[in-house]
Amino acid sequence: MAVETQSPTGTTRQTPIVDRRVLVADRRVLVPSWWRDAVGLTIWANLLIVTALWVSGGGLQALSTPAGAFTTLGRLTGLIASVLLLIQVLLMARLPVVERVYGQDELARRHRLVGFWSFSLMLVHLVLITIGYALSARLNVFVQFWELVVDYPGMLLATAGTVLVVVVAMSSIRAARRKLRYESWHLIHLYAYLGVGLALPHQLWTGQEFLSNAWATIYWWGLWIAALVAIVGWRLAVPLYRSLRHDLRVAGVRRESADVISVLISGRDLDRLPVAAGQFFHWRFLGRPSWTRAHPYSLSAAPNGRDLRITVKDLGDGSHELAGVTPGSRVLIEGPYGRLHGGVRTSRKVLLMGAGIGITPLRALLEELPQAPGDVTFIYRAGSDDELVLAGEIEQLAASRGARVFFVVGHRRRERNSWLPSSAGTLSDADGLRRLVPDIAEHDVYLCGADAWMDAAAKAARECGVPADRIHSERFSW
Ligand SMILES: Cc1cc2nc3c(=O)[nH]c(=O)nc-3n(C[C@H](O)[C@H](O)[C@H](O)COP(=O)(O)OP(=O)(O)OC[C@H]3O[C@@H](n4cnc5c(N)ncnc54)[C@H](O)[C@@H]3O)c2cc1C
Repeated sequence: MAVETQSPTGTTRQTPIVDRRVLVADRRVLVPSWWRDAVGLTIWANLLIVTALWVSGGGLQALSTPAGAFTTLGRLTGLIASVLLLIQVLLMARLPVVERVYGQDELARRHRLVGFWSFSLMLVHLVLITIGYALSARLNVFVQFWELVVDYPGMLLATAGTVLVVVVAMSSIRAARRKLRYESWHLIHLYAYLGVGLALPHQLWTGQEFLSNAWATIYWWGLWIAALVAIVGWRLAVPLYRSLRHDLRVAGVRRESADVISVLISGRDLDRLPVAAGQFFHWRFLGRPSWTRAHPYSLSAAPNGRDLRITVKDLGDGSHELAGVTPGSRVLIEGPYGRLHGGVRTSRKVLLMGAGIGITPLRALLEELPQAPGDVTFIYRAGSDDELVLAGEIEQLAASRGARVFFVVGHRRRERNSWLPSSAGTLSDADGLRRLVPDIAEHDVYLCGADAWMDAAAKAARECGVPADRIHSERFSW
């Protein structure tokens, strides 16, 4: 079998090739195209239902007087804000269908967008309702606001909930996020659940649309219960069940380079775990101080039914600690998550393109993707030879499967964001890609690396004629 392998060192490390396995995983993560429409339709249907309930509760008639108009529009905005808040929660509830349709990157973006609207409408709701009540009671708006907060059932709790949601929204603004450590941001974010919970009683006790008819009450209860069940089920119960059912334990730790290690995790009946190469889990290693905080790591080897492997770069406290994890330690997982798997592939030809530690899911994909010799090309970008972790394995896998591998090594270009190193001189990003993969337009492109690098690589792929929906990526950032 002809294999074109360019190694920066010219040496091949003696790493055992992982078993070839029957390629069944793709089927387990297939994403029928109508799923996306179904999820989108469900979201819009809920907005429609809420508006219809508002209309049937006399929402339009109330528009005839100024006080009535402010109050009724305040109700409508409050109702839509509530639905959006619950949709926001459901988007992050790790529901398998939603996960598979959008993937974590897109989910996080949509979660932020929906969050922006629910937050803004919540504030509009507050203002409109206060003005509406003040007009009908002929009170000063500030006096009215105070009365609303202290006299109306559930309103004190709702105000506390609103303050929490405001804090969470502020902490999520990009500039604030950059200044916060991930841990602090995450901790603040958890208060959003409390905020949402505190807002519920005022809707139950005073919300006219909530109580106006039996259907409205059933609908709202249904929505709140669905959100609660989804969160408790998919964020707590399923991960705990999976971790205990598969009895995951550290089987060994191997050093790959000065700052990168691989951790092998064994478990029971791992062939029943619905995971595919390219996906990731959130991991907790019990016995280590940072076990309270789950860290996302992609599988760096295709799941083989016997064990799972991750490869981790030391970038902070949590990843540093992993080198000292002892064999036999229990491991808890949440997942699998992510859309960077064989299920989203649309073409026979595939380009796997990774930089730095972003290589981990691509290494697993190279092993698992069904392929004939010449179908798969692997581009591995690194700053220096020392940073080429798992290079020996990748070379051996490529040799056994007939894939081509290019190691693109060198310092970053300083003058502009580029996927190429500075040694590429004046070569454009698109031309660089075309030189390595002349028929790139016929490929699906899988990308993983630092954000800026991925942006440059995706842009180059699009310039070479790869449609956006054939570019699949996973971001290692939050
Ligand atoms: C989907 C996904 C898959 C990943 N796969 C791998 C992998 O296979 N190998 C690997 O070495 N790294 C991977 N990472 C990155 C890895 O999760 C972080 O480097 C790690 O959590 C850092 O934690 P820390 O406590 O060591 O460092 P910290 O000091 O907490 O942070 C160091 C850096 O990591 C970022 N970070 C911290 N926590 C997270 C988090 N939960 N999610 C995203 N970024 C975070 C911080 O913003 C900071 O830039 C992945 C990240 C994501 C989102």
